[in-house]
Amino acid sequence: MKKLGSFHNKYCKRGGIMTGYKGKSVFKGITVGKIKVYMRTDVPVECRRVDDTEAEMKRFCDAREIAVKQLDELYELALEQVGGEDAAIFMIHTMMMEDFSFQNSIEHLISDSGFNAEYAVSATGKSFYEMFRGMDDPYMQARSEDVKDITTRLLDILSGNKEQDISADEPTVIVADELSPSEIMRFSGGNTVAFATAEGSASSHTAILARSMKMPAVVGADIEITPELNGKTALIDSYDGMIYIDPDEEFIGFVLNKKEKEEQKYSKLLEYKGRENITADGRKINITANVGSLAEIEDAIENDAGGIGLFRSEFIYLSKESFPSEDELFSVYKTAAEKMQGKEVVIRALDVGADRRMAYYGLPQENNPALGCRGIRFLLNRPDIFKTQLRAIYRAAAYGNVSVLYPMVSTLVDAGRIRHINDETVRELRRDSIPIGDVRQGILVETPSAVIISDLLARETDFLSIGTNDLAQYSMVMDRENVMMNEFFDPVNISLFRMIKMVIDNAHRYKKKAAICGEVASDLSLAQIFLAMGIDELSVTPSEILPLRKTVCMTDVSLISQEELYSLWV
Ligand code: PEP
Ligand code: MG
Repeated sequence: MKKLGSFHNKYCKRGGIMTGYKGKSVFKGITVGKIKVYMRTDVPVECRRVDDTEAEMKRFCDAREIAVKQLDELYELALEQVGGEDAAIFMIHTMMMEDFSFQNSIEHLISDSGFNAEYAVSATGKSFYEMFRGMDDPYMQARSEDVKDITTRLLDILSGNKEQDISADEPTVIVADELSPSEIMRFSGGNTVAFATAEGSASSHTAILARSMKMPAVVGADIEITPELNGKTALIDSYDGMIYIDPDEEFIGFVLNKKEKEEQKYSKLLEYKGRENITADGRKINITANVGSLAEIEDAIENDAGGIGLFRSEFIYLSKESFPSEDELFSVYKTAAEKMQGKEVVIRALDVGADRRMAYYGLPQENNPALGCRGIRFLLNRPDIFKTQLRAIYRAAAYGNVSVLYPMVSTLVDAGRIRHINDETVRELRRDSIPIGDVRQGILVETPSAVIISDLLARETDFLSIGTNDLAQYSMVMDRENVMMNEFFDPVNISLFRMIKMVIDNAHRYKKKAAICGEVASDLSLAQIFLAMGIDELSVTPSEILPLRKTVCMTDVSLISQEELYSLWV
């Protein structure tokens, strides 16, 4: 069993007996209900040859037509309950169902190989499921659930399988191995108060829908789903990602009391939505989000980000089977820019090498990959890949406020070569009359050498962003992933403070902005110091934005003792 919540541990220490299961929280809340176990009644799929392939094709086409009609109805229902953006999943299901390669594979198995429709649908569904499941990007992996959903829908229609009745007249917690978006929609009304599943990821559409419905939910829990759970009491504490079975009254009271406190804390944080990040003595900064996908941009918007300070663009490359095309990249960047409605989106140029390797591209074997062909060095060695990404970025900038950030820059020569490739790219796009926008240029300061020449780099670019994760590892010469370094690795040490201060001062000397986008940016105990140093922007995980804004608003930089700060960086 995974590590249990702190409340559970405290309770058990006091002599309470409790069965608790840990999972991932999807939407925070605490609720109690009677369990209804949902088990899919998967009809075994028979594999047989048919004589009349035309009649079999008709069975499939009829089933598809019914499925599309059901999805239209679900879309309308979801539109009412969760709004257009989240309801769109059912349109996507229709598109997947009508996708050429999905249909083609089924039709080929029926018409050319003579299989029955159920087998053709099931075999195609399995191979598409495996394909998505095998992708590195968690967002793409989660799409495998959508494939499963449309496959089950088609199989249920073909076999005449009826849906399990789950209605109840008391508060109900739906517990299942997994739930598809369609099932979530079906169970969301009536007396359902929470969902808990043994499988599923926090970025799946199922999770997104639960979040939109503001329904407490825990996914990926370490719990075995059996019919014996039916009728038991479940306490869902999704602040801690916990499911408790048959808790006693005392424990329920214990946790509900915590709910009250958490809700008070959270509602206080909500007061900070829409507010400026301004200190008590009037210093204003920007708080932006670090994201790796379009799904995370939704989280950034939800948490009122002042922009995207770091879009780790490598995840798109790592989730593919070959390099993404210019159009694919353009479409993602354009969507990101449009979603952020004029707020800046800083796209980091592809940062691969060392531990980030693409399955489809053999990076050279190096003795010290962390000191080798990574980040900008990889891109400068492969100007074709670099230019493809830059073209997509310039084109997306015609639709919003887009900037680019270059990783692992360590010399002025790097900066010069980047400028040269940019000039060439812009010339070519203009020559072909392709619409482009202005793209602000930034350098990710994450090597000691970049810190030392940060005055010269500031002169060359529009802004500097400090990547403290790598800066800590390269300045202390300690692998950030090596657990043996844990007792030595201190990302918050005087040398790091001094480097940050130096970069901020050098940026300001040339009237450029300085940001921090490494993990230390969200350390609330350091916000005061960064503010006193004059930082312009902190870029953090979306969920850290409001707590950080609160800390900023409560800080009075003028009250910080200069001696105290001076001792940190001088
Ligand atoms: C950093 O190094 O601080 C950074 C922001 O980049 P990453 O963590 O992706 O290497
Ligand atoms: Mg880095």
